[in-house]
Order: sequence, then structure tokens, then C-alpha cells
Amino acid sequence: NHSIIRTDPCYYPESFDDTITPRTSRDGKVAGAKKSKNMSLILENLSFSINDVPIIQDINLTVGSGEIVSLLGPSGCGKTTCLRIAAGLANVQCGQVVISGEIMGSPVVHMPPERRRIGMVLQDYALFPHLSVRDNVAFGLQGQSQKKQNDIIMPLLERVGLEEYKDQYPHTLSGGQQQRIALARALAPNPQVMLMDEPFSGLDVALRDKIRDQTLGILKDMGVPTLLVTHDPEEAMRLSDKIAIMEKGRIIQFGRPRDIYFNPASSQVVQFFGHMNQLTGIVQQGTVTTPLGDINAGKYPDGQQVDIFARAQAIRVYCSRDTAEDYIKATVVRTSIIGATTLLTLSIEGVEDHYLALYPTRDYINAGSEVYIELEPTEVFVFAK
Ligand code: ADP
Ligand code: MG
Repeated sequence: NHSIIRTDPCYYPESFDDTITPRTSRDGKVAGAKKSKNMSLILENLSFSINDVPIIQDINLTVGSGEIVSLLGPSGCGKTTCLRIAAGLANVQCGQVVISGEIMGSPVVHMPPERRRIGMVLQDYALFPHLSVRDNVAFGLQGQSQKKQNDIIMPLLERVGLEEYKDQYPHTLSGGQQQRIALARALAPNPQVMLMDEPFSGLDVALRDKIRDQTLGILKDMGVPTLLVTHDPEEAMRLSDKIAIMEKGRIIQFGRPRDIYFNPASSQVVQFFGHMNQLTGIVQQGTVTTPLGDINAGKYPDGQQVDIFARAQAIRVYCSRDTAEDYIKATVVRTSIIGATTLLTLSIEGVEDHYLALYPTRDYINAGSEVYIELEPTEVFVFAK
């Protein structure tokens, strides 16, 4: 039952001394291996200020069962603040936090973090150095018999590949292993919601991919709704069912990775993803003339000043003119291999700016080569200036 009792959307009490902690009808059961359906996290109309400075404004977000939703944005945009409010580590000033249908935080309700049935994984993992791997994972299971604890802990340790390390201490393990202890510890009490704050940023690149994939697999198996904070667009794209892009305390776009990639809502969003060519111009008869060719701007009136963003992959590069239809001639100024693709810096005769394009590394092009380029319109975005 997801019916939500709404509080006044923006009631700001100055102090929280009279915050009420409600009784709950929770059965207190922990870590039954069963998946509970209808788990969800809803952040509704959340706003939060510190000393009258707004930190987040009007955040609305739903994470359903089995979903991973990322909060993506630059440092300081308010991601951690959202997570802290969801966790109950900060009070709700305005709006509400609802977990699996139950109001956990509002201006008049404050359920303490330990009673919200959340699991948290933080950037530094915050493991207990004096406890063994097993005892770290047991942390949220205090009060249960050793046998019950082990019935939960052992399968989890196996799932994260750490069963043979159960008696070791965290500092004797690698960063990736420590991350998995933190994940197992967060999952042990069978949380209704997982909150993860930059959980992969402490890992080196070689390990990060593998740990991300494993984590994703485990979270998907468990079906726990997960809110993942990251500043890394590629990570958000790769792991999330939906992404909330934040800027200056607000969500500026919310959608599936493909929605955001193909239909970025603003110039801020489009600039998150990949190498970009930025052009400007004025709409004339539905098009803008640029050094990269005429660009359709049909939805803007003639005379409108526009910013144009053409992704590097929007520039199709051909080595021979036969395959290019409506090509423009360019010269490769520089090449940088960035993995399976190579970033080409291109110059066009008579144009001061350089442009970025991507080309398959296996078909390597030398700097100095002449190429023929053409724009792929689905990766070009026009916004009013
Ligand atoms: P992010 O996680 O996206 O990097 P944060 O939520 O940590 O951003 O912070 C958002 C903004 O709020 C930042 O400008 C930060 O300086 C400010 N802020 C966060 N916590 C406090 C605090 N306790 N006191 C004052 N400013 C804070
Ligand atoms: Mg943060």
C-alpha cells in the first residue's frame, strides 16, 4: 500500500526540538532471505537549507523494488545531502521521506536511522578496524543468536566472494574486498532500501569495473531499491535504471539512461556525456549554418540565437570521399587513443576552431591525414541561448 499522507509541502519549523518519533508496527524481523516485494524509497518535495542558504530544492524521486537510481551531479550539488536526509542523518525541513509506504521523515516525523531499515555504503566504507570480516558483517544483526547470524552472514560472504577471509581484519584486505565487506554489512539486516554514496570512487580503475559489475549483480538479485550517488556519468549510465541529474540542489532531468542520452533536457545535461563540440549560431529558415554543416533547428523561430552541442561521435569520419555523401573536408591535427575509440582533433580549412571526433582505434588514422566528415543529426542538440 503506497498511499501517502501528504504534509504541507513547505512548512519550515525553525527548530526540531518537538520532532515526534512515531511508533511503528514493524515486526522487527531481520534478514529473512526472502525478497520482500513493494520495497521502495520516495523522496517527496524535499528542500533543505543551512543558515538560510538552500542546499537542495524540491527534490522528487522514486526508487522502486529492484531499481537502481543514480543521483548524478558535480561536487557540491547536494547529492550527499539528499542521501543523508533519506537516511535520517539530517532532519526533513520540508517534504517527506517514505520507505516502503511508511513515512520515515517529515517536518513532524523523524524515524531514527537505525529504524529505517536502510543499508548504507559510504565512500570510505567506514569498516570497524577492530572487528573481523565476519563481525563487521554481523554488526547490524546484534541481538540474534550466533547460529541465526551465521545463517545470514555465511551465504552473504559467499555471495561477495569473501567466505575464506571471514576471520581476517579489514586492513589485511584490498580496497575491492573492503568495499564488498561494506556491501555485505549493509545487506545483512535485509534492508528495504540501499543508500550508496560514491561507493566505487576509492577503487583503482582496474578493479572498479569488476566490483561495479559484481555489486550490480548482487543488488539486482536482492531486488533492494538502491539510491546511488555518483559524480561519474559513465558509472551512472552503466549501473542505473534511472538517473536523476542534479545541479545546484535541483534535479534538472530524471529518466532512463537512454532517455537522457538521446533527449537531454538542457545544455547542462548534454555536457555530462562525452566529448562535445560546442557551436553557436542564429536560426534562419529553420536551420543554422555552421562549419560542420547546416543543422536543423526547426523548433526555434528564425532569428533565435542558439547553442549547438555536437557529440564527438556525431562527427562521422571517412578516409575516402567515396563513402561520404555530403562531406566536409578536414585534417587530423591530433589523435589520442582512449580505449576502443580514438579521439581525433580536426581542423577545417578557413575555420579557427578545432573539432573533436571519435574513430575506431583498430582503424587507426595518423595525425596529418585528410579526412571527410559528416554530421549524424541524432547526436546534435540545439538549445535556445
Ligand atoms: P555533493 O554530495 O553533491 O558533493 P553535498 O550534499 O555534500 O554535495 O553538499 C552540498 C552543498 O551543501 C555544498 O555546497 C556544501 O558546501 C554544503 N554543505 C553541506 N553540508 C554542510 C554543512 N554541514 N554546513 C554548511 N554547508 C554544508
Ligand atoms: Mg557527496
